[in-house]
Amino acid sequence: MVEKMKAALLYGVRDVRIEEVPVKEIEPDQALIKIKACGICPTDVRSFTGQRKVSDFPRTLGHEWVGEIVEVGSEFKGFKVGDRVAPEWRAICGQCYYCHRGIFNYCQNLQRNKVSGGFYGYGHAAARYMRLIPDGMSYEEAAFAEPLACCLNGSEESGIRVGDDVVVIGAGPIGLQHVQLAKYQGARVIVSEFIESRRQKAKELGADDVIDPTSENPVERVKELTEGRGANAVIVAIGNSEASKTGIEMAGICGSVNFFAGTYPSADIPLDPNVVHYKQLHLTGSHDFTPHHFTTALKLIQFGIVDVKSIISHVMPLEEIADAFDIVANREGLKVIIRMD
Ligand SMILES: [Zn+2]
Ligand SMILES: [Zn+2]
Repeated sequence: MVEKMKAALLYGVRDVRIEEVPVKEIEPDQALIKIKACGICPTDVRSFTGQRKVSDFPRTLGHEWVGEIVEVGSEFKGFKVGDRVAPEWRAICGQCYYCHRGIFNYCQNLQRNKVSGGFYGYGHAAARYMRLIPDGMSYEEAAFAEPLACCLNGSEESGIRVGDDVVVIGAGPIGLQHVQLAKYQGARVIVSEFIESRRQKAKELGADDVIDPTSENPVERVKELTEGRGANAVIVAIGNSEASKTGIEMAGICGSVNFFAGTYPSADIPLDPNVVHYKQLHLTGSHDFTPHHFTTALKLIQFGIVDVKSIISHVMPLEEIADAFDIVANREGLKVIIRMD
């Protein structure tokens, strides 16, 4: 019986504190999970920096968490104490309009009491929301199950086909996962990214061409690289209006443009309907993931289809979480993982 744990609590803008808090008792259908690693998502950082408005302080953060089962409830089935698991925070109901329609990422009735965890010592989850972490996969790698599941959803929305010219705008942790997914689907991948080290990493992970938008016009360059056509698919992995506008300009006939990242604050972009009409463009977005994306993400990591290890720049202890948030906010590294033991 574990009674207390350390937790990172957000008390306000840039005010995150590590405190001792009680561990909630598990329900009969839940397991208690010792959290081993939790990835920092841009969403967490936006709450920390105040870019995203948060009201209910103190607030717990973190949803990319994984760990080891240390206790199970009386009705818990499917996993055992000692199993290494990745729980998905999106605990879908399976009964609402969108679940019945198979659009699980828009479940209207998330079972928030069934899964809880983040930047703290212990988490809880019902078995149906967990996956076993494959042998040989580190907790740090397994923490990518959630972000990679989101990328996979976005990649599917983009309708990438073998031989396509695909542009990824932004080579942060998310963009670098998109690069690998597109590459594996047989695309030729072009990356536009401001930061030199990120362009370099994109090349290491399979990008065929990289563009520095500070020294060349990225739209012109994409056209040059595609015999004037533009891209078959553009994935905008940066949340701002300039990148979104550029994404539309880069798309060729029948091309798709996926606004993968949220924009904070919300912004407008100029859009000539004729461009969409005459080029028969597919403008799409993608948000969150479905249970199948989560399962598949772990498989992509397991079989080396997506190399997530190379995207990790920092593994830091919980005590340094404020510094870790700053590293992400200032784009000083790539993926930052908080190690919990
Ligand atoms: Zn996330
Ligand atoms: Zn539902």
